[in-house]
Amino acid sequence: MAADRSYNAFEMAQSQFDRVADQLKLDEATRELLRYNLREYHVSIPVRMDDGNVKVFRGFRVQHNDARGPAKGGIRFHPMETIDTVRALAMWMTWKTAVVDIPLGGGKGGVVCDPHNLSMREQEQICRGWVRQLWRNMGPLSDVPAPDVMTSAQHMLWMLDEFEILRGERLPGFITGKPVGMGGSLGRTEATGYGLVFTIREALKALNIPPGDTTASVQGFGNVAQHAIELYQQIWGTVVCVSCWDQKDQTSYSFRKKDGIDLAELRGMTDRFGGIDKGKAKDAGYEVLPGGAWIEQEVDILIPAALENQITKDNVDRISGRVKLVAEGANGPTAPEADAKLHKRGIFMIPDLLANAGGVTCSYFEQVQSNMNYFWEKDEVLGKLDTKMTSAFIAVSEMASRRKLYMRDAAYVIAVGRVAQACRDRGWV
Ligand code: NAD
Repeated sequence: MAADRSYNAFEMAQSQFDRVADQLKLDEATRELLRYNLREYHVSIPVRMDDGNVKVFRGFRVQHNDARGPAKGGIRFHPMETIDTVRALAMWMTWKTAVVDIPLGGGKGGVVCDPHNLSMREQEQICRGWVRQLWRNMGPLSDVPAPDVMTSAQHMLWMLDEFEILRGERLPGFITGKPVGMGGSLGRTEATGYGLVFTIREALKALNIPPGDTTASVQGFGNVAQHAIELYQQIWGTVVCVSCWDQKDQTSYSFRKKDGIDLAELRGMTDRFGGIDKGKAKDAGYEVLPGGAWIEQEVDILIPAALENQITKDNVDRISGRVKLVAEGANGPTAPEADAKLHKRGIFMIPDLLANAGGVTCSYFEQVQSNMNYFWEKDEVLGKLDTKMTSAFIAVSEMASRRKLYMRDAAYVIAVGRVAQACRDRGWV
């Protein structure tokens, strides 16, 4: 039991919050309010399986805080889902929507199930069952779900359909991550990776380094990584190394080309899970290195865009002296001990809650477009995304310089400060 407790995501989220609460000198009532979720729902979803038997799935929805606007956050399908993971993710969503200053709160949902072992009909029944249990507590003006781990645009459509049947009206703003043409927003696929590069561009401006003079190494080659590389190359940056998970070998590899990878070529040899074909990459002139090699490249920028807990006390010292910037595409890629070392080394950090907030920002745009039933051109979506990400970056870096804070602390101080203020303004505390 003790070992489990030490990896409890919610306890980690709470202790991060406690640190910021101390810095902000929050009063006791505000701390009590923000350390916990406002509401959480535990539901049971009976589903008649394809073999005729009924199986009951457990599901959750957590609304951490909605003082700044409707709760917002994804719903994941995962066999190891726990209420504490969902609670932590809901709290992190509150900080993420606050740091980019969109009028939303934070929430998260989950169902304990493994889609690998479920037919599409069974998954549809889970989606509809989850909505049937929760529709009274959610809606376009109260709590808006989105896709997350192992849920897709199709799952969102089934959930929306069930919600609209129950409400007897069309309410496409109930959920985001819908397919384009069925209420989805153009630019959503690119949004997280592009948003990441908007913040990298601003950080390089602050460091007085022309992007065209920089090189980068990236962990991951999925949605976030590929779109980040696309835009980074458009501002003349050079990516020398990427890495990915190899499902067949059950290990990761790094792929290096010292004069720069060819994105279109690598995409052509990558499966839909972001796994690169080793043989084809070798034939195309890439060096195939162990998975951990991405972190020790002689580059200016490191972009972890795969998983949590990847820069740790065990590999942080392998980061080259040339690295000036770390931009966290993934959620929680840097462990606390490693983070302290990066801070000490004076490496510029763009923390996850800011760096990868492009996704939720574009989901907010989708919600606005759905509620208006009027859809924007892609350029308009990406232009608005750039404006939001750039102003959030500037606010955080100004706070960091003014109060001599690490960028991560500055982002948290702004986010928690905004949510605490909204709670006070409403007279809650
Ligand atoms: P994805 O599934 O499309 O891609 C993940 C990539 O990481 C794949 O290329 C996979 O091979 C690689 N990978 C997995 N394990 C690895 C390992 N051990 N070493 C090296 N590479 C490994 O996922 P994504 O949507 O690109 O998300 C990546 C990260 O960004 C996640 O932490 C996610 O929570 C976060 N994120 C995503 C979004 C979004 O809009 N997609 C938004 C915010 C945050």
